[in-house]
Amino acid sequence: MSRTYHVWTIGCQMNEADSRHLSSQLEALGYTPGQAVDEADLVVLNTCVVRQQAEDKALNQLHRLRRTKEARPDITIALMGCMVGMKEAPRLKKRFPFVDVFMPPSETEPLLEYLSDQDLYDKSRSFDMREKALREAIQDEEFSLPTALRGQSVTANVPVVLGCSHACTFCVIPYRRGAERSKPPEDVLREIRRLTDQGVREVTLLGQIIDRYGTDFDDETDLAGLLRRVAAVPGLERVRFLTSHPNWMTDRLIDTVADTEKICPHIEIPVQAGNDEVLTAMRRGYTVDEYRRVVDRIRARMPDAAIHSDIIVGFCGETEAQFMDTYRLASEMRWEKIHIAKYSVRPKTIAARSLPDDVPADEKERRRKILDDLQTEILEEKNRALLDSDVDVLVENRHKGKWRGRTPHNKLVFFEDDRDLTGQRVTVRIRETRPYSLFGSVVRNHDGLPQAAALASLAR
Ligand code: SAH
Repeated sequence: MSRTYHVWTIGCQMNEADSRHLSSQLEALGYTPGQAVDEADLVVLNTCVVRQQAEDKALNQLHRLRRTKEARPDITIALMGCMVGMKEAPRLKKRFPFVDVFMPPSETEPLLEYLSDQDLYDKSRSFDMREKALREAIQDEEFSLPTALRGQSVTANVPVVLGCSHACTFCVIPYRRGAERSKPPEDVLREIRRLTDQGVREVTLLGQIIDRYGTDFDDETDLAGLLRRVAAVPGLERVRFLTSHPNWMTDRLIDTVADTEKICPHIEIPVQAGNDEVLTAMRRGYTVDEYRRVVDRIRARMPDAAIHSDIIVGFCGETEAQFMDTYRLASEMRWEKIHIAKYSVRPKTIAARSLPDDVPADEKERRRKILDDLQTEILEEKNRALLDSDVDVLVENRHKGKWRGRTPHNKLVFFEDDRDLTGQRVTVRIRETRPYSLFGSVVRNHDGLPQAAALASLAR
């Protein structure tokens, strides 16, 4: 009898990648995807705790699953991700006794072992033998796409640096994802080759400070070298990487992005605040001027690079004047995108232990909105300049009756076309612009790409 699984995911791209890895492993063990959380035989909640809001969502799901477990005691419930972290499991087990398995971020083993022990293998065999069979079953599937996404997913996230050892005062990630460690390049390449075999055309390499990739190896391995090798994988059209930190952005990396066609000129390099005192309180490790100089270096080499930033408003002690410094920096930088977050106290962080969360909630919201309005204004103007120009679009999927894809600069583009263009690169002439999206029509379909039929045959 086939058993169904449901993986519920919130949070960052890293979580999306972890859920993908887990789903393909579960499918290798004979599980099939189920649509509804409450109906599956196995439910996994992959959680995020970077802000209180994300944590609240996971708690709501847990309360709902408590009732499901009461009604259907044979359901297996697993909790994964940053809520579990590297050492929260014992505490969570007391609070949520109906959860069967706890899995730290990026670690699927606890669940796979639990399942192999429960029902998948003949109990007459020893644990070691069952474990060996389990490993053989999942070995090649670990880095695949879940079956429903084969030939469908055009883009995929690939973690290359796990954890973080930087300890910004606001951030919980180092406590939940553990110390920084890089994945061997061979593993990264193996995963990407497998993904491209299954129809993926664009990958985004992930790490908290991705530019530090390889600094924990004894050889010369670095992000620039890895990006070059990834860009050479046959069938892959585009590579992106995130997140960069100003202190680790080398000229070699900038040159590599500028010189390698398949590496998108898109750099996510968060400033977090535009005032030196706030940056010091955050322990970011750079000044506003140092940040400016990094952006200058990027723009000197790639004048039209899409540079994105994250900003936290209402951090401990942030005054109106300090916030206005951030506002002025945003007007000056004219980033292609800002991810704006209102500061949220996170347990055990340095800020939670030593700094007061003293900016009122409505003031945080006011600052968020001011920045957001500024960004809308800037993007409206920047995008208007693209009117009537031709952009290169990698088509991802259909959305509300239109095709949806992105440019190398990560602009979202929508257009209508009767053909199946999933995974194809097309040139789109922009006919209408909005701050967060562009609309147009195809003027050219690029040659030498796998046709939709070939992709469709991959989908089962
Ligand atoms: N490693 C990356 C980003 C990691 S988390 C970096 O160093 O920049 C993603 C974003 O969430 C951060 O850039 C930050 O803007 C936001 N964030 C992290 N902790 C937060 C907190 N306690 N409150 C509000 N936003 C937070």
